Amino acid sequence: MAATKADVLRFIDEFDKRIEEHHQALTDLDQAIGDGDHGINMNRGMKAVMEKIPSVQDKTIADIVKTVGMTLMSKVGGASGPLYGMAFVKASAKAKGKEELSPEDISEMIGAAIASIEKAGKSTTGEKTMLDAICPAKEAYDKAIADGKSVADAFADAEDAAWKGVEYTKGIIATKGRARYLGERSIGHQDPGATSISYLIQSARVAAEA
Ligand code: ADP
Ligand code: MG
Ligand code: MG
Repeated sequence: MAATKADVLRFIDEFDKRIEEHHQALTDLDQAIGDGDHGINMNRGMKAVMEKIPSVQDKTIADIVKTVGMTLMSKVGGASGPLYGMAFVKASAKAKGKEELSPEDISEMIGAAIASIEKAGKSTTGEKTMLDAICPAKEAYDKAIADGKSVADAFADAEDAAWKGVEYTKGIIATKGRARYLGERSIGHQDPGATSISYLIQSARVAAEA
């Protein structure tokens, strides 16, 4: 089953809702190991995205996803804005010319997002960042698709893996982002960026189920 433009728009809408609902909790997580603005940043960015959507919803999936990225880049400050923004922009390139997204197209988009975060953030898994949620999520998604599961079921597996990744960030030392200044004192706290990424995967799951 392929994902349509309506599915992509629903995904963006679901992500906006989740960021809005959880922005205080995301900010509280960032208060503990950063500067206490992750939820504020993401919420400001997604509100700007939702304002832009009506002007691009008749365009292609690639145009829509790229607009999300460009808007996040320009409206979200800090580390997460450019990382999230560029990830969406790079993902959009994989959707170019496609009216629908196959399960493999979706995997390539997530892969492009990961490569973008790794490159721009000079980061890898095990550093207490958003990568600790999105990398296991992609692995689980790919395995589920290879096993013949639907995109919705694959995203359900991906979401489980993402939340496990969030749990994993609690036990490790941050070596990237502001949390690295805390060193060992970052242990015991869950990473805000990994948490928002898990809401992103959850949004994809909910959109795929609809
Ligand atoms: P800032 O730290 O600039 O205030 P945010 O609070 O919005 O930005 O985002 C912090 C999140 O960004 C962290 O929880 C982490 O997941 C992610 N992050 C920070 N630096 C990096 C990096 N180099 N690579 C990947 N993710 C990062
Ligand atoms: Mg912050
Ligand atoms: Mg900040």
